[in-house]
Amino acid sequence: MFELIKARLGHGYQAIPNPLKASIHPSFPGLPRILRASESDFLLASRLCPTQALKDNCLDLGKCNFCGACQREFPETFCFDPDFRMAATDRDSLVIRWLPDQGCSSKPVLKKNPELAKLFGRSFALRNVSAAGCNACELELGASSNVNFDMGRYGLEVVASPRHADALIITGPISHNMAYALRETWEAIPEPKALILCGCCAISGGVFAEGGALDRSFLECVQPALYIPGCPAHPLSIIHGLMSLLGRA
Ligand code: SF4
Ligand code: SF4
Repeated sequence: MFELIKARLGHGYQAIPNPLKASIHPSFPGLPRILRASESDFLLASRLCPTQALKDNCLDLGKCNFCGACQREFPETFCFDPDFRMAATDRDSLVIRWLPDQGCSSKPVLKKNPELAKLFGRSFALRNVSAAGCNACELELGASSNVNFDMGRYGLEVVASPRHADALIITGPISHNMAYALRETWEAIPEPKALILCGCCAISGGVFAEGGALDRSFLECVQPALYIPGCPAHPLSIIHGLMSLLGRA
């Protein structure tokens, strides 16, 4: 018994002390920046882009799957910083623009939601629906609760039943086959509730957007409160987005 206690004490505190201020590996492709306005680079890069994320000197972070092709081919125009703070409460602000007057690109707008902060600021339970995701976003959402990221210490948790949830978090592009289950799950969550989209598939359909297998009509009826880009979304992006939404960042 004493040996077990000794071993446990030897593990120390394993969680990242403050996930909002954590540093991430320099190779992580996070928040993109447009370094210059170049119509020719945009045109050529848009032909490489698998998700039509590049258009008119803009990069749509909600469509980008971070394949890195644009940066590899046009490093003087596109740059991805190792910054995981990419979530937004405003879908339009995920479109990163070249701002000639400021000499830099715009950033996602992430604001506290006063109503959600008041109701769920200390405890926010999420029910995940994997709506035809590839399982990587789901995995990273699960990792947000592991011993390393430990979002449970902030009262953020993924729960097993929609009856126990305060929000629905969608991963995946929403296929026809998952559309009904998604609506049923949303209906089963008691009011008040929030909708969160996690990963580029959930936000825009990602690489599946142009296929015929999706039914995203649910998103025409319900307004998401938070968009978390990534492919997959990083646990730090998820935690940062949720805490900022609840006014705790
Ligand atoms: S990194 Fe994003 S914007 Fe660039 S080519 Fe890939 S998907 Fe398109
Ligand atoms: S956004 Fe990327 S990682 Fe997430 S479900 Fe879609 S393909 Fe998978």
